Amino acid sequence: MYQTVIGLEVHAHLDTKSKCFCGCSTKFGQRPNSQTCPVCLGLPGSLPVLNESALQLALKAALALKCRVSKFIKFDRKNYFYPDLPKNFQISQYDLPLSHDGELYVDTESGVKKIRIRRTHLEEDAGKLIHPEEGKESLVDFNRCGIALLEIVSEPDLNSPQEAYDYLSRLKAILEYLEVSDCNMEEGSLRCDANISLMPEGRNTPGEKVELKNMNSFKGVKQALEYEMERQKALLDKEEKVVQETRLWDALNCVTVSMRSKEEAHDYRYFPEPDLAPFVLDEKYIKKIKESLPELPKAKAERFVREYKLPQYDAGVLTCDKYLADYFEECVKLYPKPKVISNWIMTGLLAHLNERNIEVRNLKFKPKSFVAIFQMMDEGVINGKIAKGILPQMLDGKREARDIVKEKDMQQITDAKGVEGIVREVIAENPKPAADYYRGKDAAFAFLIGQVMRKSGGRANPQIANKILKEKLGRRDNA
Ligand SMILES: [Zn+2]
Repeated sequence: MYQTVIGLEVHAHLDTKSKCFCGCSTKFGQRPNSQTCPVCLGLPGSLPVLNESALQLALKAALALKCRVSKFIKFDRKNYFYPDLPKNFQISQYDLPLSHDGELYVDTESGVKKIRIRRTHLEEDAGKLIHPEEGKESLVDFNRCGIALLEIVSEPDLNSPQEAYDYLSRLKAILEYLEVSDCNMEEGSLRCDANISLMPEGRNTPGEKVELKNMNSFKGVKQALEYEMERQKALLDKEEKVVQETRLWDALNCVTVSMRSKEEAHDYRYFPEPDLAPFVLDEKYIKKIKESLPELPKAKAERFVREYKLPQYDAGVLTCDKYLADYFEECVKLYPKPKVISNWIMTGLLAHLNERNIEVRNLKFKPKSFVAIFQMMDEGVINGKIAKGILPQMLDGKREARDIVKEKDMQQITDAKGVEGIVREVIAENPKPAADYYRGKDAAFAFLIGQVMRKSGGRANPQIANKILKEKLGRRDNA
């Protein structure tokens, strides 16, 4: 038996307008190499200047993760050669990171678990290589080069791929709450590397560590770790050695493949960045940032219980995503029945979104349209069954709830005449169940009412249909 030991390194783009050490825009999706200057291209004679908002956002994250912030700020050069790195070094922080010794509490299968944060530090991103399918050459886009990154390194406190997944989800939620990063994984704003080793039971030192790269979703991280766990286990079972190396996740074939032996810190020849003078942060500056921290998931969940009288479970689900929590609160402002909204979000909305892999922040309909469903139910315009059917039709954001009901003629049939016509037809078509009911067989009534609802396309008002059917069948209820 083995214990799995996992540590994660997360890189998050800080949500600054300009890059970390120059004034170039960080806007995503612009023409390649249109957002560059001598500084981020590393031209001779150019000098970097630290972007203060990058420092502020990084400090916010560090403080929210309960890290100890270093007051002495110093940058270092991490030297390596790669075509997407025009300076041949990256400005990073080596021996004196921005912050260290933090913690993050994660909901896992076995309860709440504390994961220690080893360090967070500020650095710049590299450019991006593009390999066109046709042609032998590769292209490089330096627009991303120099964008501020926060690296968050956990201690190896995670013991399963699922725990790694849960940690990432929680960390992403916190960064989104803080508004320090948009955490958009498709655009590469949030990336994760993992290291994993197996420790034979009864031993205290983990085995050889393998570093995993190239996962571009949390699901990918989990799958890569699961694969790697099995691969290492098979080797150890055969008494073979696990080689310490970096492996790439191949999402297409669902395997990890060897990339290179792992670099050691000395391979990077770190030394202090001579173009950026070290400086000292004063207490007041840190205190001010600490005071600007917004309400975080745990505090928000507690407030939801208190303010909206929601069960703890509901509050936990609603606050695990900032965008969902905001959406819920907007809805409550328009329709002050929190528990109704919470039920519909948890059992209806989230199920549809998960099925289609849509994130709440990309939800296309506004709270106003969502609560219109409940308002129409209260007004007697639609029944619960119809209401459930409207929701998936709203997901493309093209039509409001009320328009769908009008367009598709989904209003309830509440006029007695309309319902009566349907009841007559149902009795005429089902003489046997009608007679059975008359003779005292109650089960036949349920069948008949089912037929009425079916014939009306679910639109007959159930109370009215009940009443009219009973009248028409002619059995006295006390018989
Ligand atoms: Zn630049």
